[in-house]
Amino acid sequence: SAKRAGRGCYRVLTTNLQKQAALRLQLEQKLRIGIEKQEFCLYYQPIISLTTGELAGFEALVRWQHPEDGIISPGLFIPIAEETGLIDQLGDWILNSAISQWKEWQQKFSCCLDLVLHINISAVQLSQYKFFADLEKMLIEKNVERSGLKLEITESCLISKQVKTSRLLDRAKKMGLQLCIDDFGTGYSCLSHLRELPLDSLKIDQSFVMNLEDKDHDATVVRAIIALAHNLGMEVVAEGIETFEQWQHLKLLGCEWGQGYLFAKPMTVQHAENAIQSLQQGTTTFIDSLSIFN
Ligand code: C2E
Ligand code: MG
Ligand code: MG
Ligand code: MG
Repeated sequence: SAKRAGRGCYRVLTTNLQKQAALRLQLEQKLRIGIEKQEFCLYYQPIISLTTGELAGFEALVRWQHPEDGIISPGLFIPIAEETGLIDQLGDWILNSAISQWKEWQQKFSCCLDLVLHINISAVQLSQYKFFADLEKMLIEKNVERSGLKLEITESCLISKQVKTSRLLDRAKKMGLQLCIDDFGTGYSCLSHLRELPLDSLKIDQSFVMNLEDKDHDATVVRAIIALAHNLGMEVVAEGIETFEQWQHLKLLGCEWGQGYLFAKPMTVQHAENAIQSLQQGTTTFIDSLSIFN
């Protein structure tokens, strides 16, 4: 009877796997259609100066607005886009859309010249040999001020395979763009390799920020990451700041920039414009304008 139960288990397992595979295939097909129909939009999450509470810029984060399923998170479809090669088209759309928006804001608000716009780039995109040529073309066409544009590349991307990352990143620097290593602390990168890369900033992964107030984890690791970044000439951004205590602690540790639900969730273009508008007017700082601090 054990044998029979075992066989039963096996059957259940296959059905589950089959179900999962079917669901995935379905999502992949939906994604193809979604890309064709341009069912995507970008949200913008404010990046804040931890010392002054002032708006410093935004990170563009893609959202899929499916006509029936509603908003689908990038954590779900970016990996599929990467595995299927659909990321080329999607990544192109993201870059185009973010750079157009940035250009529009630069024209509308003079203070935008002091802000940064972070755009996430997938490892798969970066390794396409046409990536930089296409990007250069886009930047010339849009005639956008480049110095505030920052490409976010995940740490796992930097250590991946044979990709000659340092050459690719040098190319981005020569084009006048800034570079940020994303999700730092999760990818086990070789620290001496990190030294050779032309990175401008380092983003501490939110898992470290989450554990900051935890006695067992204490702040040692975060302190070490910040020291490493500063010694290599990089500025530090902390992601996932959700509490006032985390903010104060990171500020004390010398972290320059931060983003997180404490300050603002990723927001629509309209809401982002309101934030830029109040910076432009200089009447209140970004955090003073938030109801949580009033
Ligand atoms: P990421 O680049 O590390 O982005 C940070 C994620 O943390 C975002 O999730 C953001 O909404 C979320 N987040 C921000 N503040 C908080 C907070 O205080 N608490 C918590 N729990 N979460 C916070 P999102 O937008 O779902 O994006 C997930 C991941 O998908 C991104 O991680 C990035 O790896 C990828 N992604 C998003 N947009 C793009 C894109 O345009 N291109 C590429 N290649 N990847 C993207
Ligand atoms: Mg990012
Ligand atoms: Mg990140
Ligand atoms: Mg992350």
